[in-house]
Amino acid sequence: MPSALETLVKILKLEREQGYKNNAVIGGLGEYSALWADQARTQARRPEHLMLIDELVDLMIRYESVSEKGGRGDSIEYMLARITGRIPPPEPYRSRHYDAPFPSRSEPRPERAPANAAPAASQAQRDRRKQRAAQPSADAGQSERDARKKKKSREADRASQKVKPSDDGGRMTPDDDFSRMDMEFRGGRGSAPVSDIPAPVKLARPPRKPRTSINPEEAADVLRGLHASVETIKDVGPKRAEQLKRLNIFTINDLLFFLPRRYDDYTQLKYISKLTANEQATVIGTVRHTEVRIGQSGRRDFYIRIDDGSAQIGVMFFGQWYLQNKIRLGQQIVVYGKTSTYRGRVHMANPEWEPLDVDDLKRVGIVPVYPLTEGLNGRELRRLIKRTVDYWAERLPDYVPEATLERTDLADLGWTIRNLHFPESWDHLHHARRRFVFDQLLLLQLAILGNRRTWQSLPTDALHIDDDTLVELLRALFPYELTNAQRRAIEDIRRDISQTVPMNRLLQGDVGSGKTAVAIAALAIAFINGKQAALMAPTGILAEQHYRSISRTLAALPVEHKPVVALLTSALSSGEREAVRSGLAEGSIDIVIGTHALIQEGVDFRDLALAIIDEQHRFGVEQRGTLRGKGKNPHLLVMTATPIPRTLALTIYADLDLSIIDEMPPGREPVRTRVIQPHHREKAYGLIEDQIKAGHQAFIVYPLVEASDTIEAESAVEAFERLKGVFYHHRVGLLHGRMKPAEKDAVMAAFRDHDFDILVTTSVAEVGVDIPNATVILIEGANRFGLAQLHQFRGRVGRGGHPSICLLVNDAGDDIPDRLRALEATHDGFKLAEIDWQLRGSGDLIGTRQSGQPVLRLLEAVSPELVEMAQREAQTIFYEDPLLEREDHALLNQRVALLRDERSDLS
Ligand code: ADP
Ligand code: MG
Repeated sequence: MPSALETLVKILKLEREQGYKNNAVIGGLGEYSALWADQARTQARRPEHLMLIDELVDLMIRYESVSEKGGRGDSIEYMLARITGRIPPPEPYRSRHYDAPFPSRSEPRPERAPANAAPAASQAQRDRRKQRAAQPSADAGQSERDARKKKKSREADRASQKVKPSDDGGRMTPDDDFSRMDMEFRGGRGSAPVSDIPAPVKLARPPRKPRTSINPEEAADVLRGLHASVETIKDVGPKRAEQLKRLNIFTINDLLFFLPRRYDDYTQLKYISKLTANEQATVIGTVRHTEVRIGQSGRRDFYIRIDDGSAQIGVMFFGQWYLQNKIRLGQQIVVYGKTSTYRGRVHMANPEWEPLDVDDLKRVGIVPVYPLTEGLNGRELRRLIKRTVDYWAERLPDYVPEATLERTDLADLGWTIRNLHFPESWDHLHHARRRFVFDQLLLLQLAILGNRRTWQSLPTDALHIDDDTLVELLRALFPYELTNAQRRAIEDIRRDISQTVPMNRLLQGDVGSGKTAVAIAALAIAFINGKQAALMAPTGILAEQHYRSISRTLAALPVEHKPVVALLTSALSSGEREAVRSGLAEGSIDIVIGTHALIQEGVDFRDLALAIIDEQHRFGVEQRGTLRGKGKNPHLLVMTATPIPRTLALTIYADLDLSIIDEMPPGREPVRTRVIQPHHREKAYGLIEDQIKAGHQAFIVYPLVEASDTIEAESAVEAFERLKGVFYHHRVGLLHGRMKPAEKDAVMAAFRDHDFDILVTTSVAEVGVDIPNATVILIEGANRFGLAQLHQFRGRVGRGGHPSICLLVNDAGDDIPDRLRALEATHDGFKLAEIDWQLRGSGDLIGTRQSGQPVLRLLEAVSPELVEMAQREAQTIFYEDPLLEREDHALLNQRVALLRDERSDLS
């Protein structure tokens, strides 16, 4: 009787000959695997045999869901290679425990081949095996007939002839594979003693290689290579480079630091039959059914069923009908998402998905999943990154001083890069992420400390105002009582600007907390001191809104000559722009409100003493610097409505002093917030209808469906067309990210002027535009937005003193995500920021926006402990070598400079 492995080799070869139809045994490899495993286990002599059996069983079960063309062939070859020992076992199997009893070493080893090689096999098992062994020929006969019918008979003919003698009782032709396999199974070759089997990997501290010092020329060479365009990589042409550019990858360095969005653990794959509700799962299967369903209120959904051999699961893509052109019947796909129940059955809604890449299956480990762009699929990007990492990981000189790594117990750079992309285990990934996050924090701190040293070294003009004048001024300017928090902030600013060390202050206050009033007070003080002041906002519409309210307010200043206020945006004609520029240069303009246009080349001030930046998170550190450079080192005030926990604030704004407005103006009614399910959308529309009839306006926000502006825009355009039908006797406007800035501004202006009743929009509506008449905001797919962003959206309504409503449509199934519950329960942005930090790390609190690069990446891995560590190390380095001039700081200095560059091309 042949050994179980020999039988399997036969079957695999037969499968190969028959063209990978999964019919070499009846029912397919998956079904056969259980029987085979029973038999094989009785023959196993060593833990590594069990290991191999497990691995093969997994591969056999998965075989059905692998694509016939190409994929299955690879899978068969891989299994054969594993049986013959040509490929070592993959990590996950190595690290598993096998503690089944084995014959002791002293027992005579079974001799090769004959029937007694399977001592424990019962008669029944032998019978069953015989029965099975007889089946291939029957099945081959079947496939023969099929093949004839299809007039493609030649190959099948040959195959079936070879197969016929498969019930030969185990006589086998000598064959390389067999003899090697036999050696392997007898422990002759490549098999380790029991005690060598590694325990599951757990790294107390990551490994670090002794560092080879490189001279400055070598370092410069490496850096040149690192910062070369991706086009210097073999097989990357202009087209690929263009695609990579869309992912913000320009250089090899960018590619090395382009992080996966997540990782799929293919060792933890779940069978569909084992899925329960409310779990995050990755499933691989064949698409068995596809249909576009007309959902609630005409929305077109895409519904599929996938099958992994164990069961089928329904997957719903709400509103994503266009997937019908991407997901095809019979295709093998990988689906990642959270399960939920719908009508008592487990299903998935709006999961992430990608076509199956068989290479990943073979790797049987942790597979990185990257953000993608049109024309570049997951497999291609993975391969490109793999090649790049393989080449660079060993060549990458580490820029963090060795002493720092020693003190902090962090990993080498090369090791880190490798494990960030292709982690050997979750534990490896954990350490790699720590090092990665630490680096960012360290570089940021060093950049900030350097900046601070620069700007503090240059004195500026002190601005004074006495108590009585200030009281009078505030009373004249504002028709309302300032809140205590506003007063405190103004007092902080007044104290700062009365010094010759320039102010560098961050004003944090929730949406609607009245930061503008504080800014106006500061502008007025500068004006009274005979100086110029500027305020910069991230969008044209916001700048214009500030311009209007600030000019109106400042007109009430109790002075004879009122300040001259000007607006500077790219929407101005070149003549108008020129007039503003010369007015600023000669000093006839006192206060200017504008966009990025303010920090452009050619804008000069006669005497700029105060610069204010609104919605500061939309700008980079360097832009602050540029604005500051427009004057004689003016006082700087930055404002943000995106509250972040204090630890983080200390890092990201380490050079800023902090004022917090933690109090809302009186009489503000909180925006009533409700999470609703998609089938309640009609009711929501009714509510919007009521508000419009009462003369108010509404926002309807559509989520980012994919990491693509185009698709986001498509879904908003689509929704817009539909909603025009729903609200056919109202005026509906559209705003999305693909519009030009001027178009966006025009639409916002029209909405402000009540030319529309409803604005259909995407995440672009997030920035602080004031539409006091808007009283309802409906957010579709709210479960797909982050907490901070949802809070910002909600801040678009309830600004005019009218009772307002925020409706969050949750399309994630029956269960409501915690962060949506949190929004229902609280209106306090700071509290929400803390909750967000607890729920999901700080990822969404700052930075990760569509426009521009995030301040820090991998925020979910930022911990107070790492922040403190980085602060301490940065201070140590800075104290020893403030200008990073030492030779062993040369690479570090380059990285800090690079960070400064990156931040400056944010716009
Ligand atoms: P944000 O902090 O989001 O920038 P704004 O400065 O735009 O908020 O203020 C929101 C609204 O609150 C404005 O219409 C403003 O006039 C009003 N407001 C500001 N401070 C007060 C106050 N102390 N009392 C009453 N209303 C105020
Ligand atoms: Mg504001």
